[in-house]
Amino acid sequence: MRRFLPALLLVAAAGGQTRQVAITFDDLPRGGDSAKARDLESIRAMTEKLLRALGGVPTIGFVNAGRVPEIGDAGLQSILKIWLEHGADLGNHSYSHLNINQAPLAEYTADVLRGEPAVTAALGHRPVYFRHPFLLTGKDAATKRSLAEFLAQHGYRVAPVTLDDDDYVLARVYATALADDPKLAQRVKDAYVPYMESIFAFFEARSKEVAGHEIAQVLLLHTNQLNADSMPALLEMMRRRGYQFVTLDTALRDAAYRLPEEYAGTGGFSWIHRWSKTKGMAPKGEPSEPQWILDEYRKRQ
Ligand SMILES: [Zn+2]
Repeated sequence: MRRFLPALLLVAAAGGQTRQVAITFDDLPRGGDSAKARDLESIRAMTEKLLRALGGVPTIGFVNAGRVPEIGDAGLQSILKIWLEHGADLGNHSYSHLNINQAPLAEYTADVLRGEPAVTAALGHRPVYFRHPFLLTGKDAATKRSLAEFLAQHGYRVAPVTLDDDDYVLARVYATALADDPKLAQRVKDAYVPYMESIFAFFEARSKEVAGHEIAQVLLLHTNQLNADSMPALLEMMRRRGYQFVTLDTALRDAAYRLPEEYAGTGGFSWIHRWSKTKGMAPKGEPSEPQWILDEYRKRQ
């Protein structure tokens, strides 16, 4: 019987019924992949390529209204409109992406509120979801509790992440190498989907250990040229692994998202790690990107 097992596993993975993922993007209108391409035309071209490649797959973009002040309020609204025209939802990611481990709570919460009007203007109603910058929720239990209360009082639902990755590291090397080292850019692009697949494989297995089943995942990506250029291959990888694309609302119906999450500390990481820490499990980290990419990233800061 044993020799039939691999075939059975393959059928289960390819069946398309057992795996779900909600694809989410942070740092709209554009993440920090390149200091150069921050003009409105570059951001528009990147955004349109990204959303066209997604082809109506459900997604939500988390906005930093103060991230690219050079494009102005009208410029930001024109980019957010592209997201909405492609069927995306929008959430608040704060105005200027403060680090809650470094900023006083009152400054941080004011920055959350400051980020809201631009998203409200685009949506026509207040955003439902908040995504924590750096996935940081408070360095101690008191800060964490105060922030959670603030978000609840303002009607926000927290948007957790389970598939956490360093796409922004590869994206920085990629975007800067496009200008000065096209061969390096191609090497990074070739390495991107295999790296992301290693992240999927890790968290699929880890969710079984932590939550007892393979959960509906929430993927974190950033709005950058690497994702715009790699989205067809990225989607193909997910489809090959048997994923259905679902909204964040749908993914969060998975019972895993009601697990106790009591991690308070300076780390920003996957909710799967948060649940495992709350349960007192031994830590297990996701795979890193290749060292040569990290080395290039440090050179290109
Ligand atoms: Zn962010």
